[in-house]
Amino acid sequence: MLGTDIGIDLGTASILVYIKGKGVVLKEPSVVAFDRDTNKIKAIGEEARLMLGRTPGNIVAVRPLRQGVISDYTVTEKMLKYFIQKALGKKTFRKPRISVCVPSGVTEVEKKAVEDATYQAGAREVSIIEEPIAAAIGAGIDISRPCGNMIVDIGGGTSDIAVISLGGTVVSTSIKIAGDDFDEAIVRYMRKKHNLLIGERTAEDIKIKIGSAYRRAEVDSMDVRGRNLVTGLPKTVTVTSEETEEALKETTAQIVEAVHSVLEKTPPELAADVADRGIVLTGGGSLLRGLEELIEEKTGINTMTAEDPMTAVAIGTGKFVEFLSGKRDN
Ligand code: ADP
Ligand code: MG
Repeated sequence: MLGTDIGIDLGTASILVYIKGKGVVLKEPSVVAFDRDTNKIKAIGEEARLMLGRTPGNIVAVRPLRQGVISDYTVTEKMLKYFIQKALGKKTFRKPRISVCVPSGVTEVEKKAVEDATYQAGAREVSIIEEPIAAAIGAGIDISRPCGNMIVDIGGGTSDIAVISLGGTVVSTSIKIAGDDFDEAIVRYMRKKHNLLIGERTAEDIKIKIGSAYRRAEVDSMDVRGRNLVTGLPKTVTVTSEETEEALKETTAQIVEAVHSVLEKTPPELAADVADRGIVLTGGGSLLRGLEELIEEKTGINTMTAEDPMTAVAIGTGKFVEFLSGKRDN
């Protein structure tokens, strides 16, 4: 049996594994739960996520990749190993070739840490690929052409913005403002406006159900439970999508600002290509309603979300392996 080609999207919020010929076989939150007393890992992935905020004192659940950086190397290594083994099953005779996607803002040291962790996790060969390239391939863009394309990938901890051409990044930026910051902005808004204390899980829920980055014709609303900061007692407040727009305004503006700065640094011919072809959004954060409209209004450039924005990077990373192996096998 030949070795398997694998693409891994090492996201701050979720990890996806793509296997050549099978597609995305695994998608789990990048969360690890430990026993603080013995320092042993208790659970990884979905199982660990369920423990977040609900663990007894000695068990802690952490997100080792928060903000796109490997904050805890050994944990990341164990997590990678676990997901690779889970995705491959037991019957592998040859070590796989693995391609891992990292956010474009990571340092060489961090890249090396990911590479080492992937070898440690059982890879025969490792290639590290930048998020915007993977996102572009996954969004169905032919990256080998001499034509400018702009990709905006909004994840949990980081947003990657890049103009790519001829398979490489021409101009890019990575900011630590993304989906998680939308949640935090909602938490702050609820506290300030309604004197209501809510957790980040509730804030994410609000964002996914009614969150909006742009004025819409229809107004949605939902009841939100939290703790009244004045009385200390539970309290329910009805929140509208218009309020979320207000809550998210500053955070979405920072993303628009970053898009703007990349456009400003783009050479004129490529900028003209982007203006013709439009801006493509990927990543879970791009599912926030009205983000397309907001970016389109502020830049004057047609903006659309990729067909399956959550899996685009994983698919692109896997296809990149196919692209590499195709080049070698011929
Ligand atoms: P990463 O690549 O950093 O792992 P993802 O691309 O998986 O991140 O995106 C995670 C982010 O997407 C989280 O902040 C999550 O709340 C957000 N998200 C997921 N689904 C939606 C949705 N339907 N609407 C808005 N945000 C969403
Ligand atoms: Mg991502």
